[in-house]
Amino acid sequence: MSSINYESITQKDAAHVMQTYGRQPIVLASGQGAVVRDVNGVEYIDCVAGIAVNNVGHCHPRVVDAIRSQAEKLIHVSNLYYTEVQANLAEELVKLTGMERAFFCNSGAEAVEAAMKLARVTTGKTDFIAAERSFHGRTMGSLSVTYKEMYRAPFKPLVQEEIFVPYDNASAMAEAITENTAAIIIEPIQGEGGINVPSEGYLQEVRRICDDHGILLIFDEVQTGFGRTGKWFCKDHFGIQPDIMCMAKAMGGGFPMGGIVAKKGITFSKGQHASTFGGNPLACAAALGSIAAIKEDGLLKRTTELGKYFMDKLRQADIPGFKEVRGRGLMIGLELERNCTEIVDHARKHGVLLNSTSETVLRLAPPLVIDKGQIDRVVEVIEQA
Ligand SMILES: *Cc1c(COP(=O)(O)O)cnc(C)c1O
Repeated sequence: MSSINYESITQKDAAHVMQTYGRQPIVLASGQGAVVRDVNGVEYIDCVAGIAVNNVGHCHPRVVDAIRSQAEKLIHVSNLYYTEVQANLAEELVKLTGMERAFFCNSGAEAVEAAMKLARVTTGKTDFIAAERSFHGRTMGSLSVTYKEMYRAPFKPLVQEEIFVPYDNASAMAEAITENTAAIIIEPIQGEGGINVPSEGYLQEVRRICDDHGILLIFDEVQTGFGRTGKWFCKDHFGIQPDIMCMAKAMGGGFPMGGIVAKKGITFSKGQHASTFGGNPLACAAALGSIAAIKEDGLLKRTTELGKYFMDKLRQADIPGFKEVRGRGLMIGLELERNCTEIVDHARKHGVLLNSTSETVLRLAPPLVIDKGQIDRVVEVIEQA
């Protein structure tokens, strides 16, 4: 492969793709486990994982086989009909989450939309409360509960303004409730906002506040789900159940898929919501393959151990401008007292893919199948930057 390939592909992109992404200057062609390869055959240890998507690693044989064998049988049918894979996946998710029923869609933003609609139709109320530095998606509803003004400003009016309270402050949450509040929506650990882990007791307190006021609690586990933090879902660290939970990202092992699960008695009735592709056979097969891989490879335990190992290594390392390491499992934020751009560039040139969630926070969210040798290499590259 020559770099002519790189030039022609990036030129084609520049000419024909809406230029919404600040892309890194590499063209990726293949991947296996925690490693991806570019069109020139250069390998990178992937600490981005499609932004917390490739939890089971790139092209996990379980996921590849599940997609291949399903694709030979049936790729798509309408939700006008039943399929075995969709029923099986719903049963599996309900078991894993302790919730009652699932609704399937195709992305995180759609999962948040579904949760917001379900909260409105369940409570008969209109308003939401969300946390500062939240990220819930880019569609009009999910954007309304997303904090960053840069994302919101060009698209107003949104569903609601005056919606945000400080994260990790339960009394601010309680004070924001009005007679119109339908639900609180929150990420149990904030992802895009900088890998912000709440203090002990905060989420339990939010749960109590919701119960006291008779409003719903929505957990957005789009980024924290499917083993990322060392449990199936992040809520399992805190011993509480939300009323509605959003999932997507890692759900399909890399295949686009989203969904919500909700507690007993909280459900859409006939005709209230729908999706053409939601719960499509190929996506459901991929999700079942990915869930099987997490179980068979023992990824929850591995993630807990490797997360500790990774965070300890980062704390012990000699990283210029080091401020703090925080996270759970392999959802790790490395905060620096300087801009991350140089480190991201340096790392890419030395075979490591990194991503920053804000100017000063590196988000380390590798595939959960990464090994210690690869983690050592990542820390070494960050140190040298
Ligand atoms: C990525 C993300 C979303 C949006 O998911 P998309 O699939 O990009 O629409 C929503 N919530 C959280 C917490 C996310 O990390």
